[in-house]
Amino acid sequence: MSNLSSLRVGGLVPLTMIDFPGHLAAVVFLQGCPWQCLYCQNPHLQKEKSAESLSSWEEVETFLATRKGKLDGVIFSGGEPLLTPQIRALAERVHALGFLVALHTGGAFPERLLDLLPLLNWVGFDVKVPFSEYAAITQVPNSGLLAEQSLDLLINSNIPFEVRTTAHPNFLSQEKLWMLVQELIQKGVEIFALQRARDLKGDYLPGFYDPSFVDTLRPLFKHFILR
Ligand code: SF4
Repeated sequence: MSNLSSLRVGGLVPLTMIDFPGHLAAVVFLQGCPWQCLYCQNPHLQKEKSAESLSSWEEVETFLATRKGKLDGVIFSGGEPLLTPQIRALAERVHALGFLVALHTGGAFPERLLDLLPLLNWVGFDVKVPFSEYAAITQVPNSGLLAEQSLDLLINSNIPFEVRTTAHPNFLSQEKLWMLVQELIQKGVEIFALQRARDLKGDYLPGFYDPSFVDTLRPLFKHFILR
């Protein structure tokens, strides 16, 4: 715990029934992200804030101690949770407290993901656009290379995972989504969630795809989710 006592987390959702399939979980939001996606839904988590404004990891553990037998797991989300150097120690603590560990990631740190894989029970993997076009979204060169390396690591592990893509009308045309889907199918991705983009108030943005196009995607995956 000592190397975690100075860690500050960006937020805690005490209960979710939808973010870790089949499980009741809490969500721990970790601060910071190396990318600057133009449509980021968590801009307050992109940068690391001053320690005073955040919760401590000790407070998270105190909360989790009250949830034994009530929650199945903890999801690390962000920001990009793999940016946090102590992520492996955090996952070990969560397991030691008796909970499963899930991760939401965009795959910016393949080496850290590889190190963490043995501790993960489920991953929600965010894919933004075809891998060759990532920089237009993240504003960071080579980000698509890192994301693709991370997804390949995940595919070659035995960790259950879902690939999810946010369908933003200004950043992912129907043609680009089709390209992306072909890449995922070639890699053997079986579970794919297409997420309608929302504004910061939570309302759907206008300009979603033709329903007949969405229907062509459904049979391409073992499990296709529209949310
Ligand atoms: S990777 Fe996620 S958290 Fe980071 S900037 Fe992009 S949308 Fe926001």
